[in-house]
Amino acid sequence: MCPTPTTAATTDRPKRTQGQNWITPKKRLAIYLRDGFCCAYCGKGIEAGVTLTLDHLKPYSLGGAISDHKNLITACLNCNSARGNRSLKAFVEVSAAYHQREGQEVLAYIRRQVRRVLKTKVAGEMLAQRGSCRKVLDEVQGGRPV
Ligand SMILES: [Zn+2]
Repeated sequence: MCPTPTTAATTDRPKRTQGQNWITPKKRLAIYLRDGFCCAYCGKGIEAGVTLTLDHLKPYSLGGAISDHKNLITACLNCNSARGNRSLKAFVEVSAAYHQREGQEVLAYIRRQVRRVLKTKVAGEMLAQRGSCRKVLDEVQGGRPV
């Protein structure tokens, strides 16, 4: 299982969305793969030691789709927590400035990423080989090629 904290962005959602069962490990991994195991907001990758999470672009509590990959982007725990329930635009404006990035570029990157095709088959094979999403992430973090 991937290390998805139940704090931060998920705290004010209805109970059924808490924990990790709102998305399959395969889909979660496929989205991490799609996004290169990097946080969309600060740009840090898993090799930098950050904990990866999935952030809902349009929060579920505001009507966003719960597990549609087009509504999900890879975010590190720090950024996901920092966003809370702010709108994507409002958060990116602040966080991009903080991380000395261009907000427009961050938003453009996110728009590009969500349109990409998910490699769920590849993710499924990785899960089958390594046994769990956690083990795949450990390998990526350890610098081993995936
Ligand atoms: Zn981040």
